[in-house]
Amino acid sequence: MSREQLEDFFLSLGEPRYRSMQVFKAVHQRRLQSFDEMTDLPKKLRAKLEDTADISRLSVGSRYVSTDGTRRYLMKTADGYPVETVFIPTENRDTICFSSQSGCPLKCDFCLTAKLGLLRNLTVGEIIEQMIIVLNDVYGVAAETPHGTNLVGMGAGEPFLNFDNLIAALGIMADENGLFIVPNRVTISTAGIVPRIYDLAKVVHRPHLAISLSSPRDEQRDVLMPINKKWDLDELMTAAKEFEGSLRRGERFTFEYVMLGGVNDSDRDAIDLADLLRRYQLTRVKINLIPHNGAEQLDYKASSSERVDRFKKILESRGVDAYVRTPRGRDIYAACGQLAAKSEPDLVQIRAI
Ligand code: SF4
Repeated sequence: MSREQLEDFFLSLGEPRYRSMQVFKAVHQRRLQSFDEMTDLPKKLRAKLEDTADISRLSVGSRYVSTDGTRRYLMKTADGYPVETVFIPTENRDTICFSSQSGCPLKCDFCLTAKLGLLRNLTVGEIIEQMIIVLNDVYGVAAETPHGTNLVGMGAGEPFLNFDNLIAALGIMADENGLFIVPNRVTISTAGIVPRIYDLAKVVHRPHLAISLSSPRDEQRDVLMPINKKWDLDELMTAAKEFEGSLRRGERFTFEYVMLGGVNDSDRDAIDLADLLRRYQLTRVKINLIPHNGAEQLDYKASSSERVDRFKKILESRGVDAYVRTPRGRDIYAACGQLAAKSEPDLVQIRAI
């Protein structure tokens, strides 16, 4: 619930307005996950809340820690659907990669999550609670949210197919009396749900946008990302151009390009990609090259590092900024495209919470 919704809820219980603020802070700032811990509330009120409300709807089944420090959480909703969240530490800042859906309805050919199909959209609370659980695990309950924590909506699911819940969750997480993670620290990745790109451009306090592209040609993208049959490259790039017009000063947006060995990593692919950006006069963009993270259920392999370097150089020689994203947490199936509720016993399970 937003602060306003919580206020209405407390008034409907016949409780004074200030109690709603107390509880909002307890949930989002102190990150308490039971009413019992809110010892600054009268016992009677805590019992009343216990009877009428839920404070926590996710539980953690397992937690894996990669050799590179990445942590992967397999959570479950109260009605039993899987939710996956990944914590990625880096030297200067930490990033949480959250999910917006349980499973995913899109059928990107190189993605393990796609094999699950859509199980259901996550609620506003389930989106936010992923951050609360991870922050509590990493920093301890009630510790201040470290300044500079970044969020990426790149876990399981297509965020733009759960647009309203996503935007509501981001609004609540931005509250200075709560987690205080402002949209400027958030990047949302879409596989290309074109109407929502136009919608996002109109959101005042909006997150950064990343578009997963993975091919510069329709016939290839139709196979790799079948959503392309619904909104083709022309519609996608036209929307991207419109979005570019809404960028703030100094802001850019990102195209992500999953590099699949021998499939979409040729010199011609790089040249076509640069040409595509030029055709639509997209200048305030950068390309993230993501070497594919293999999994035995998928027929793809990663591009060699020499190929990735050459691809990057071709883009750069044509005036396109390109970066190679280092895969994180591959050993625990936490890397891009690998989230599929996998919990093999051979993964090193450090402890179950
Ligand atoms: S890559 Fe993203 S949008 Fe595509 S199937 Fe996987 S989770 Fe869904």
